[in-house]
Amino acid sequence: MTHLFNDPAEFVGDAMRGFLDLYPRYARGVAGGVIRRQKPDAPKVAVIVGGGSGHYPAFAGMVGPGFADAAVVGNIFTSPSSHFAYSVAKAAHSGKGVVFSYGNYAGDVMNFGLATEQLQAEGIDARNLLVTDDIASASIEEISKRRGIAGDFVVFKMLSAAAEAGLDIDEVERVGRKANDRTRTIGTAFSGCTFPGADAPLFMVDKGEMGLGLGIHGEPGLINQPIPSAEDLAQLMVERLMLEPPADHSGRVGVILNGLGNTKYEELFVLWGSVAPLLREQALELVDPEVGELVTSLDMSGVSLTLVWLDDELEKYWTAPADTPAYRKGAKLAATDWDPDDDAADAAATSSVDYPEGSTASRALAARTLDLLREVRNALRDAENELGRIDAIAGDGDHGRGMVRGIEAALAAATGAAHAGAGVGTVLQVGGDSWTSEAGGTSGVLWGSAIEAFGREIGDEEHPSRERLSTAVEAFLQRLTALGKAKPGDKTMVDAVVPFVTVFCGAIRDGQSVPDALTAAADAADTAARSTTQLRPKLGRARPLAERSVGTPDPGATSFALIARVLTGEN
Ligand code: ADP
Ligand code: MG
Repeated sequence: MTHLFNDPAEFVGDAMRGFLDLYPRYARGVAGGVIRRQKPDAPKVAVIVGGGSGHYPAFAGMVGPGFADAAVVGNIFTSPSSHFAYSVAKAAHSGKGVVFSYGNYAGDVMNFGLATEQLQAEGIDARNLLVTDDIASASIEEISKRRGIAGDFVVFKMLSAAAEAGLDIDEVERVGRKANDRTRTIGTAFSGCTFPGADAPLFMVDKGEMGLGLGIHGEPGLINQPIPSAEDLAQLMVERLMLEPPADHSGRVGVILNGLGNTKYEELFVLWGSVAPLLREQALELVDPEVGELVTSLDMSGVSLTLVWLDDELEKYWTAPADTPAYRKGAKLAATDWDPDDDAADAAATSSVDYPEGSTASRALAARTLDLLREVRNALRDAENELGRIDAIAGDGDHGRGMVRGIEAALAAATGAAHAGAGVGTVLQVGGDSWTSEAGGTSGVLWGSAIEAFGREIGDEEHPSRERLSTAVEAFLQRLTALGKAKPGDKTMVDAVVPFVTVFCGAIRDGQSVPDALTAAADAADTAARSTTQLRPKLGRARPLAERSVGTPDPGATSFALIARVLTGEN
């Protein structure tokens, strides 16, 4: 869905106005498109890319040194007119001829073809280079009928680098053809795309399905099938691409994993994590792979995988520098890496930790502590959804997940330390550290650090006295407020922790047993957590939606009260 436009009919013109305002360093607007801001130092072959809009960074985002000289900008998914292809080419021509390059679509072939004739009639050498990388759109026997999709980027890049290197038009065209001959893409869509102002997508993919073999103009996929796991999708795409390797390939490939407009970069990275090893298993060496949005299709959700089979010449142009609004590639990196042994030394330093050995009493208590942590983990797992639900009312809904992650990490680390002979204080400190580093979120760092402070106070020597336990509980609160700066009434976990600590320490001072003190403290925490319901949050993520939070208890206070109850052993 496109949410922002003025008059949908003016969407492309309005977008170009914004684009040109943003990138004056790179581009200048001309009738029908954009050309590079700077004239080349010496005449060179002008590479003009283009097609319809809706594909950004294709095509205007690829104009600049090392890449295209100009882009012809059509309406959304609509070929630009021959008139504009001609006028843009005239503006960009510096005396050595022009090469139009574009994806293989009938409208583009006709319009760029007509512009070519017009240029030739004026004595300007003009060539056409169609991109035909989409293996799903026609069989290998009819390769010239294939559409151009993300392979546009590859072919434009190499063609442009060859022109930048000063090759003449025959040579530039030859490099471009070779690049196209050796480029293959397979794409898949998870949902359709919607024109600005339209209220329905151009096509629909059923929920949970994907269309394999999509086009980039809202053409749905050719085969619909359930969305596989990232790993299985990687397998599927790599298998298809490996059906057509050139006979003489060197084993070196350029790769693009392209997002179609509405696929998260993190999702692309997940997929890449499966794609890369599969390609390497095929004995391929991956040269400067690109993962990101390079050729999109409005707001389509989907991905495509492109391989270009390199030879020395193509590799040189694939890795050549470029500087454009949407794509920057610097000079080659230095050849020598840092000594790999340095990394190994770092890893060794962090992996083999020696824990101080705890006293027998402390180690026995560590074992009991692990049992308690396990019970806390089970209780948090049971409460995960409910904690998430109350955090979602005014926060971000992750509190349940965060607490479960935290306790799981703490339990794993604490178990490791206990098995290595550490006493209870160290076991808790190690657990707290791990909670902090693994859980994330506000509650993660607060819980982890507070447990760490508690463990430090408990120590590894004797079985801790009642007084020591009381001091440690105070240290927990102290750490919490030193870090989070929350005061009672701010609607945070502190609202439950303060009464817990007051009641617990008071009961110990009054000579009550530890279990009795714990029960009284857990009751106080419980009551306090419930009465956060009426409060407005003054801190944390829920603050901006404070009003909405009234009527729901604070998630952090609620989970604290829950854990306090588990510690009493009564739940
Ligand atoms: P995030 O807010 O980062 O999403 P969580 O959802 O896991 O983290 O935890 C939210 C809880 O953290 C809140 O309900 C509140 O109890 C607690 N919290 C937030 N900020 C503070 C703070 N400054 N001090 C103490 N507790 C806080
Ligand atoms: Mg949250």
